[in-house]
Amino acid sequence: TRAWTLQARPNGMPVATDFALIEMPAAALQDGEVRVANRWLSVDPYMRGRMNDVKSYVPPFALGEPMQGGAIGEVIESKADGIAVGDMVQHFLGWRDEAVLPGTQVQKLPDLAVPPQQFLGLLGMPGMTAYFGLLRVAEAKPGDVVFVSAAAGAVGSTVVQVAKASGMTVIGSAGGADKCALVTSLGADAVIDYKSDGPLVKKLMTALGEIGKDGIDVYFDNVGGEHLDAALATGNMHARFAICGMIDIYNSAKPTELRYLARLIGMRIRMTGLLVSDHIGHAAEFYRVMGGWLAEGKLHNSETVFDGLDAMPEAFLGLFTGGNTGKMLVKV
Ligand code: NDP
Repeated sequence: TRAWTLQARPNGMPVATDFALIEMPAAALQDGEVRVANRWLSVDPYMRGRMNDVKSYVPPFALGEPMQGGAIGEVIESKADGIAVGDMVQHFLGWRDEAVLPGTQVQKLPDLAVPPQQFLGLLGMPGMTAYFGLLRVAEAKPGDVVFVSAAAGAVGSTVVQVAKASGMTVIGSAGGADKCALVTSLGADAVIDYKSDGPLVKKLMTALGEIGKDGIDVYFDNVGGEHLDAALATGNMHARFAICGMIDIYNSAKPTELRYLARLIGMRIRMTGLLVSDHIGHAAEFYRVMGGWLAEGKLHNSETVFDGLDAMPEAFLGLFTGGNTGKMLVKV
């Protein structure tokens, strides 16, 4: 079997030589274990953090060891109760073509009649991040004006749709005309191309003008930096900011310059960090509500697919250059 390992800790943007594809002997199956042929592998921005040797909410990847990540595959051998050959399962031993792990560490896919890879995106970890981040962490309510960055990505595109299905007004920011068109097609009331000329704060104010609003009630932050500053500049009294990610700084050590930080105080803006794993206990609600919206045609899946295990690093690096629309996936 084959697996990707981290060979060197990246300095700034990772390069090809930081990764190696190794051959591993197939492990014999112990009692209670299953063998899974991975069909779909996830690449996610948080994996960049695990490449650094720093203490965080997940331990760093060990050098020379297979990396981990979300994966969906088919059980091809089972010595675990309740899991049969042919079952489609999700688990955490990604970045490889075959996984051997205890049956207690795989989950059968929920019965929602969608293609399996959607449980890595819209109906998986990024979808849960969007749903719980917007509704629980930011406490967004019908009628709120929601601003979301990286709005054409896996989390952002779901935030747009959950907000619209919940009766909110949404402004999305994304890089380039095609991505902005997608965000509009998902129901956003206004879009900002952050890569076009001019300061972001002005573009956000223009977008607010277009929809007849003075400011934002909720900011769902996937990016940090200038996006967070523009959100601060337009935050209404008692606005709520869910800080989900700061992809703008994952590959750099540059300090952020937030000109509008002090508006946190004047406008009593509440800013809260968001971690999807805190909300996993509410997964049943997520599948029920999202499954309902899906059946009503209120949710649309978008994904970008790279072909073959060899393409893993390329797909991963594409996250930082805007190479994906919707969820970035690798099909094994
Ligand atoms: P995406 O599918 O959104 O992919 C990343 C996108 O970010 C790219 O397509 C690109 O889109 C945009 N981007 C990259 N660099 C920059 C930049 N410097 N400035 C602005 N936009 C940039 O990834 P996910 O949906 O998986 O993740 C989105 C965010 O959510 C990340 O910050 C991630 O770390 C975070 N996250 C946090 C979780 C939590 O529990 N807290 C869980 C899951 C995700 P474009 O072309 O528009 O620039």
